[in-house]
Amino acid sequence: MSMPRKIRCAVAGITDHGDRVYTVDLEPAVPVPAFRPGQFLHLTVDDYDPAGFWPESRVFSIASSPKHRDRLRLCYAVKGRYTARMEAELVPGRAVWVKLPYGDFVIDSSQDAVLLAGGTGLTAFTAFLENLEPDPCRSVFLAYGARTPALFLFQDLLRARLETVPGFSVLFFAETPDPGFSEAVAGWPRSPRCLAGRLDAGRILQELNAGASRAVYLSGPPAMLTALTMDLRAKGVPAGQIRIDAWE
Ligand SMILES: Cc1cc2nc3c(=O)[nH]c(=O)nc-3n(C[C@H](O)[C@H](O)[C@H](O)COP(=O)(O)OP(=O)(O)OC[C@H]3O[C@@H](n4cnc5c(N)ncnc54)[C@H](O)[C@@H]3O)c2cc1C
Repeated sequence: MSMPRKIRCAVAGITDHGDRVYTVDLEPAVPVPAFRPGQFLHLTVDDYDPAGFWPESRVFSIASSPKHRDRLRLCYAVKGRYTARMEAELVPGRAVWVKLPYGDFVIDSSQDAVLLAGGTGLTAFTAFLENLEPDPCRSVFLAYGARTPALFLFQDLLRARLETVPGFSVLFFAETPDPGFSEAVAGWPRSPRCLAGRLDAGRILQELNAGASRAVYLSGPPAMLTALTMDLRAKGVPAGQIRIDAWE
């Protein structure tokens, strides 16, 4: 495993998804250390003097693939003071510092997997999904919840994986659904559905047909993690099968 390194980056691009959700593309000054899908980085918008202390920062899943060491991508939702500062200050060309890699939220690639993502929590899974190869012995199920369909990130990646990986399936949950989106995804390979409401353990387990023997990976905001974990446990999923990317 790589030793974490501190690296200066330039903001290469910002995508505004609406509802204060953003994708940030970074261009590191030097190639980033090797990392594994599911790991995270610390980002600070303050200047950092390598001879001094690391400034205040927040952590974000690395959404880009480890195959690309010359760029980094993260997605964030404005939640509090620090992410509001990022929203105000991050513009293309702006310098930031990151330190990486951290974390052990790594999906076991030898087993079936159930991925439950809330909002920008999808980014803990995107590097894994980018590298997902067809495997007749393995299935990967993703349930992905967001406030509105416009906030479903990485739709091109999800669609591409549905095209290339027969064992991959997706179920969307939108708090405010949009018939246009439901119709559009129904035309994707394996016709994913978009259910109304929040991620729901009962609906997910129903979809899996007693797939409770698979490892379940959860990533997203703290309230979602707490509610879904309690619900999965109440519905008989053993604690040992639930893995959490704890956002605190
Ligand atoms: C492993 C992991 C991965 C994450 N990945 C993502 C992601 O991909 N996208 C995303 O949107 N969010 C992600 N988060 C959450 C993100 O790091 C922020 O915590 C979240 O966005 C809260 O918003 P904020 O920092 O603006 O809130 P704030 O109100 O500024 O702070 C929220 C929390 O940060 C901590 N905090 C407060 N002050 C400080 C300080 N001076 N130094 C250090 N910590 C402090 C406190 O615990 C506080 O409750 C992740 C969190 C974790 C743990």
